[in-house]
Amino acid sequence: MSDKKIYILPCSGIGKVYGLLSREAAHKVVLDLEPQHTDIICLASLLLDEVKEQVAGRSVICIDGCPKCCAEKSSVEAGMVVEKKYLTSHFVRKYRGEDPGTGSELTETGKKVVDDIAKTIQADVQEIIQERGEK
Ligand code: SF4
Repeated sequence: MSDKKIYILPCSGIGKVYGLLSREAAHKVVLDLEPQHTDIICLASLLLDEVKEQVAGRSVICIDGCPKCCAEKSSVEAGMVVEKKYLTSHFVRKYRGEDPGTGSELTETGKKVVDDIAKTIQADVQEIIQERGEK
């Protein structure tokens, strides 16, 4: 993996749709939209000292599932550079009155929310790599 890849760090919330939305969006960015420029990182892995050493100083985009903002806080504690941070609830608001799904399955609305989050992050990634002069 290139040292310059931008990490995408989703919330680890299980059992709530906001956590699933953040993880699905992170996977869409890393696997489909920006595989050359991004990599996913697991929130729990940031508890390990060897991982902290590896990621310190690296760019990260956080997708949190609730205002406790575990992804953002853990990134900062690990010495990462938080380029952007998002709350999935912000994206769900656009579809007020519609059901995005559950902690284990998304509805069509939930899939639209995932697309919205992923496209927003893709634009961020493009902006960051342009600023770095990589494109
Ligand atoms: S951000 Fe909220 S939902 Fe996600 S892991 Fe933290 S406490 Fe759980």
